[in-house]
Amino acid sequence: MAADGWLLSVGMEVHAELHTRSKMFCADEVTFGKEPNTRVSELSLGLPGSLPVPNKEAIAMVLRTALALDCDIPALSVFHRKHYFYPDLPKGFQISQYEDTNPLGYKGKLDIPTPEGGTKPIHIMRTHLEEDTGKLMHLPGGQSGIDYNRAGTPLMEVVTDFPPDIQSPDEAKEYLVRLRQILLYLGVCDGKMEQGSLRCEPNISVRPENSDDYGTKTELKNLNSFASVQSGVAFERVRQIEAYKKGEGVRQETRGWDEVKQESFVMRVKESAMDYRYFPDPDLAPMEISQDWIDELKATIPELPLAKERRYRDDLGLTPDTAELMARELPWADYFEEGVNAGGDAKEVAKWMQGELSFHLSETGQTVESNHAERATTKVTPNHIVELTKLQAAGTISGTMAKEIFAEMFKSGDMPSEVVKARGMSQISDEGPIEEAADDAIEGNPGPLQQYLEGKESVQGFFVGQVMRAMKGQANPQVVQRVVKERLEKRR
Ligand code: MN
Repeated sequence: MAADGWLLSVGMEVHAELHTRSKMFCADEVTFGKEPNTRVSELSLGLPGSLPVPNKEAIAMVLRTALALDCDIPALSVFHRKHYFYPDLPKGFQISQYEDTNPLGYKGKLDIPTPEGGTKPIHIMRTHLEEDTGKLMHLPGGQSGIDYNRAGTPLMEVVTDFPPDIQSPDEAKEYLVRLRQILLYLGVCDGKMEQGSLRCEPNISVRPENSDDYGTKTELKNLNSFASVQSGVAFERVRQIEAYKKGEGVRQETRGWDEVKQESFVMRVKESAMDYRYFPDPDLAPMEISQDWIDELKATIPELPLAKERRYRDDLGLTPDTAELMARELPWADYFEEGVNAGGDAKEVAKWMQGELSFHLSETGQTVESNHAERATTKVTPNHIVELTKLQAAGTISGTMAKEIFAEMFKSGDMPSEVVKARGMSQISDEGPIEEAADDAIEGNPGPLQQYLEGKESVQGFFVGQVMRAMKGQANPQVVQRVVKERLEKRR
C-alpha cells in the first residue's frame, strides 16, 4: 500500500437524501426534476414566522441506518441551527445536528470486504439528520436562478471516524459501494449518485511512512460515480505527494473533480475554520428516543448484504463471486432465497438467475421486484425455476429444452411441467427409438464406420451427432452416447 513510502488517509462524508414523501419540516412534496419552485411553501422559502414540524418517518430512517451501522443511539437528540449565508439557504441557517453524542447515531462501524476474502471495519463517527438546500442554476443568459424545490428535503449525513481507517482509493470506493448498498437494503435512499441523491465528499491527506502527523487535507466535491471517487482519491494522492516533493506543500482547500480531464481543481481555499455559531433550534423540541421505538425499528432491519454473502458461501456452497451477485440487491436476494426455501438446489437456482433470468429481464425491462414503480414484475417465480431444475435433474428434459421452456414460461407464466406437456417436449430416454436411429446412422455412413473399426474412436462423436439430429435434439444425450457405442462395437 505504501510502495512509494507515502501513506494515504481518507475520511468520508456522505450525504443521502431520504426517500420520504414530504420534506423534513413541512408537508411540501419531495421530488426530482419538476418545474422549479413549485414545491415551496412558506417554510421551504424560510419566510419569517413559519414553524418547523419534524418528519417522523425521516427520523426513523436515520435511526434504522444508525442501527444497521452499529451506532449508539442517544436517549435525547436535538436539532441545531448551523449559520452561514448563501443564496440556496433562504433562512440563513441550516437545521442540522451538532456535538459528539447528540446525533441520532454515533460511534458505529461498517465492514468492507478485503481482497483476501476477509473484512475490515471502517469506523463511523456520526449519522445525523439535517435538511438539504436549494439548487443554484446557471442560466443561458449569464444570470443565475435558484430552485427551492430541494430546500428542506430530509438529508442524512454519515461521517467516518478519526483517525481514518480508509487507506487506499479502492477502500474509499468499496466503503461507498457498501454504504449505498445498505441504504438501498433499508429503502431509505434511492442511491442515485448521478442525480445527487447520494453525494460523497472524501477528505484526503498523505504523509511519509515514518511520520505520525497527518498531512493537510483537501476535500473533493462533484464526485458523481463510484469510479470518480476512486480516480479522484488516486489523483489527489499523487498530486499531494508531488506538491510535497516540490517543496510547495498542500493547502487546506476544497477541490472539484473534472470528470473529462480526470483531474481535480481548486474551488475555494479555507483560510480558517468557519464559525457556524451552532445553537439548539428553539423552534424544535428535543427528541426523546425510547428503547421501545429502537426495538421496533431494529426488527425492521433485514439481514445485511455482507452477512448474506457469507451465509450463501459457507452454508449454501456458492462461490464468493456468485454469493456477492446474489446478495447485491435485496429483491434479488429475496428471490434467490425463496427458490432455495422451495427446495431448489442453491447453485442451480443461482445459475438460472444469473443466466436465462437476467438475460430475459434485461431484454424486456422487467424486474423480479413486486410493486416496482416503473417496471413490470416478471411472471417467472422462484417456483418456476425450481420445477425447471428438477425436471432437468430427473432427465425428463435436456439442457437445450430447459432453455426453450424458460423462454416460453417467461412469456406465458405457465409452469415448466405445463409447457412440457403442451409441447410434447419430454426427453426421449427410451432405448428403442434411439437404437433404431443409431443403426440407421451407422448403415448410412459406411466410410466413418470403416474409420471407427480401424481404431479411430473419435468418429463416435460423429454418429452421436447424427442420432441427436435425427431425434430433433429430444434424446437423452447420455443414453445416446451409450447406445451408439454399443451398436458400433457390434459391427466388429
Ligand atoms: Mn451536511
